[in-house]
Amino acid sequence: MQPELSDAELLALESDLFCTECDRPELCEGDDDRTSKRSTESCCTGQETVEDICSGNKQSSNQLNVSEQKSEVRPEGSGSKRRKQDERIPLERFGRKYLNVTDLSRQAWCEQQVVYGLELPHIEQLREEVPVVKAGSCLHLARGERVRELPVFGELEGIFLVGVVDELCYNSKGELELRELKTRGQRTYPSVAQRKSHQLQVNIYKLLFEAMIKGQLNKDTITHHLCLRTEQPFSSEILLHAQKVGFTISTFGDLLDLMLLNLRYAEIPNIDAMKIEYCYQADASLIGTKEVNFEEEWVKSELKHYYSFWRGQREAKGVDIEEAWKCRSCDFADICEWRQSKAEEATQKNQANRSK
Ligand code: SF4
Repeated sequence: MQPELSDAELLALESDLFCTECDRPELCEGDDDRTSKRSTESCCTGQETVEDICSGNKQSSNQLNVSEQKSEVRPEGSGSKRRKQDERIPLERFGRKYLNVTDLSRQAWCEQQVVYGLELPHIEQLREEVPVVKAGSCLHLARGERVRELPVFGELEGIFLVGVVDELCYNSKGELELRELKTRGQRTYPSVAQRKSHQLQVNIYKLLFEAMIKGQLNKDTITHHLCLRTEQPFSSEILLHAQKVGFTISTFGDLLDLMLLNLRYAEIPNIDAMKIEYCYQADASLIGTKEVNFEEEWVKSELKHYYSFWRGQREAKGVDIEEAWKCRSCDFADICEWRQSKAEEATQKNQANRSK
């Protein structure tokens, strides 16, 4: 008897669908939007001096635990030196055919942190094991009753983006509403800086979703960016499952055609409202909800700025001095060259001021 396949399994791409002749690097394993959620939710909101941060005397206990383990996985040599020797642009260097929307929202928090996360994933994996982060993931999985975990994807300004919308539903006014759930370690709203990265995330989701339902996403765009072999036939298991659910398909290309046609002619409305729900992860209670405005010009200019790093047009940036408090909760604080250089700059400035 053939085993039952879930829709998720049907849609999971088999490795032989990827073009082996393509000279671009392979997809990063496990690099989906969901697994990219990081720990910025549980970080501080306080302001501190660079000296405080550099002395490390305000680290949380979680941070300390992670730091203790990190000392054993510290990389050899200078990261910036290694980067300069590698002439590939970041998209190629990190083997990215596409970016996750969360890559961009994390970039809005600290770009240098994103780079370290890709160069030294084992350090962030240590953080993933911290119980408070696990609690956040469980809460995401436990919510139901809506269209949930909806994948959205497409090309925006020349780069292919992939994301997962938490919830899509009709609100009491009959509007299609996008909801993003954020879990928090404290019963407070996040800082303005964090909220900006969340706003960017949901604004990008709306752009991707609406391009999909308006027929602006086409098969060539998908196959070009992801290097997929659309003529590759499905296995007998998948064909059987497709028949059971009423699909007449034999290749991945057929499935793409079907999906794009369905999206285009299903008469799905645009997203009218966007909300971010902040929940306290200890008991899943609602802290509050923030409405998000759609600001297309702002999103596009943010994308341009963040893409310029991925395209190798500029170096990665860490946080500005005014936002040095972000470093307190950062997994890479004790190896970060950006932070060290800013601390040296601040020390020199202080010395110069004292000698006047
Ligand atoms: S220590 Fe600060 S500047 Fe460096 S990666 Fe972390 S948050 Fe960014």
